[in-house]
Amino acid sequence: MKRILVTGGAGFIGSHLCERLLADGNDVICLDNFFTGSKDNIRHLLDDNHFELVRHDITKEYFAEVDQIYNLACPASPPHYQYNAIKTIKTSVLGVLHMLGLARRCNATILQASTSEVYGDPKVHPQTEDYWGNVNPIGVRSCYDEGKRCAETLMMDYHRQNNVDTRIVRIFNTYGPKMAVNDGRVVSNFIIQALQNKDLTIYGDGSQTRSFCYVSDLVEGLVRMMNNGQNFIGPVNLGNPCERSILDFAKYIIELTNSNSKIVFKELPQDDPVQRKPDITLAKKELDWEPVVDIKEGLMKTIEYFSSKLKEVQ
Ligand code: NAD
Ligand code: UDP
Repeated sequence: MKRILVTGGAGFIGSHLCERLLADGNDVICLDNFFTGSKDNIRHLLDDNHFELVRHDITKEYFAEVDQIYNLACPASPPHYQYNAIKTIKTSVLGVLHMLGLARRCNATILQASTSEVYGDPKVHPQTEDYWGNVNPIGVRSCYDEGKRCAETLMMDYHRQNNVDTRIVRIFNTYGPKMAVNDGRVVSNFIIQALQNKDLTIYGDGSQTRSFCYVSDLVEGLVRMMNNGQNFIGPVNLGNPCERSILDFAKYIIELTNSNSKIVFKELPQDDPVQRKPDITLAKKELDWEPVVDIKEGLMKTIEYFSSKLKEVQ
């Protein structure tokens, strides 16, 4: 049994990770400021003696005795991370500094949730970990992209300078139950719009591509990376390479939900990446990991979840 801190543990991915770590027999501290996370995501864990919930903001120091830290705290959806851009970059930079300080004091292993956004609007396709990216440092996405890039830098500097046991994963678009209804990312927007027979809002002409990974696959990758040993510290891409255009994705959601929705086209946000697909050769080789959940299966579970969420609010 390990004592494990999950920052952002009440969020979408964090709550699935807390469930998984408890099921594996660990003691889990879930730390969250509830900016985008929700108690609903972890309410069912509150009676478990091995689970502890802490309301805290990682831009402030936090002390505990732990063996492992998964640093997931950070809003991940563009409307949420742009809502208070300065706070977002503080969360990434000050947050990781505080968690690295904690890891150093406790001699804990720390895993940083980085992102495919470190590749920006990528000129290399599919994206490999040795690609340095094409990021606008002064655009509306920079608070997130550059915050995460700086967090990676700090992870590597603490590793080289202070011997902290670090792991970096670059997460690609992940979806599944427990995403917030107001999340604003494409999967939740399209499913909710389709379930309500409202127009699906495509930003731009829909030719941009993304590759969607189901959350249980991602969580498996996180746990493998954390427990993989010091010979491979990353960065490693975690995502599902099945790439599709946003227009095709919209049509597929309409089909899966049997919806009467139409598609409408809205303005493309600034710096929206044109294409994105992970090269997961490294994850396969080093972690023996690859996604196993088929997109239809994953989307049906997600549609079921949003359908029951919408009934709750009716
Ligand atoms: P999410 O918004 O659902 O979860 C983030 C959680 O962090 C929320 O519970 C939020 O309340 C909490 N949080 C935010 N700022 C905080 C702060 N200052 N102090 C404490 N808690 C704070 O997003 P998610 O999709 O679950 O993403 C989790 C992590 O994975 C993030 O770091 C994100 O950047 C990364 N990631 C996610 C994806 C994806 O597709 N879901 C892709 C790439 C990277
Ligand atoms: N998108 C869209 N309609 C929406 C939400 C998003 O067309 O209602 C597009 C968005 O412009 C982007 C893609 O879908 O090209 C994925 O967006 P998301 O916010 O999910 O993630 P990210 O851009 O961070 O990959």
